[in-house]
Amino acid sequence: MSGLPVPKRFFAGYIFDLDGTVYLGEALLPTVGKTLKALRARGVRMIFISNNPTHAREEYAVKLSRLGVPTSIEDILTSSLVMVDFLKRRMPGARLFVVGEEPLCAELRRGGFELTEQAQNVDAVIASFDRTFVYRKLQIAFDALRAGASFFATNPDRYCPVPSGGEPDCAAIIGAIEACTNTRVEAVVGKPSNYMIDAAMNLMDLPAADCLMTGDRLETDILMGQEAGMSTALTLTGATPESALAGSSIQPTYVLHHLGDLLP
Ligand SMILES: [Mg+2]
Repeated sequence: MSGLPVPKRFFAGYIFDLDGTVYLGEALLPTVGKTLKALRARGVRMIFISNNPTHAREEYAVKLSRLGVPTSIEDILTSSLVMVDFLKRRMPGARLFVVGEEPLCAELRRGGFELTEQAQNVDAVIASFDRTFVYRKLQIAFDALRAGASFFATNPDRYCPVPSGGEPDCAAIIGAIEACTNTRVEAVVGKPSNYMIDAAMNLMDLPAADCLMTGDRLETDILMGQEAGMSTALTLTGATPESALAGSSIQPTYVLHHLGDLLP
């Protein structure tokens, strides 16, 4: 179709981003179904990772299965789950104020953390993709940080692609809190952080050199895969148009018009 570099071989393991890579809204992107089927038929290891903390892992597994890609919950990794692991290590027993939606809150509670709205009791403020964001939440985050709470976030995305365009994502919430407190977020655990790729590599249980990271964003999916020592594939089905590639300092190993280009 064009001169874009595409894979000439199969990998032992494939890590796929979801939004803009596997599906957009409620539909698989073109060629995704048959491509994933063909890869599975070869017995490759395959996991799906998402920075989007507004859905539980169960929901992703159910959605993929409904769309024709049967997937178990163990093969889904979200920034919410990585946040739980991060906090267990960094601040076990911390009391949290979450600027986020219910699935993230539920994952944190399941992880043993207490959620509170009492600013003076908050050990850490967790910023996230929050479509229920209101001024009151900003006030509590502001008060908690001024009282000495730590400040972490689930993901750095500016917007989440949806069929109608995009929805303001976690970067907007981080920005609001940073702006009024003059405090920088201390860690953002989703892609492209080490926390996310370390968790993904634990799930894959394969050497990085045997894995291919495929996603639609240069600054998260591709950068993270590169820094972990993986081959990377940018798909042009989501947030990154081909025209944005030339001017970027982040260059993927492969560029796909659609996921079907993964098959040698
Ligand atoms: Mg994406």
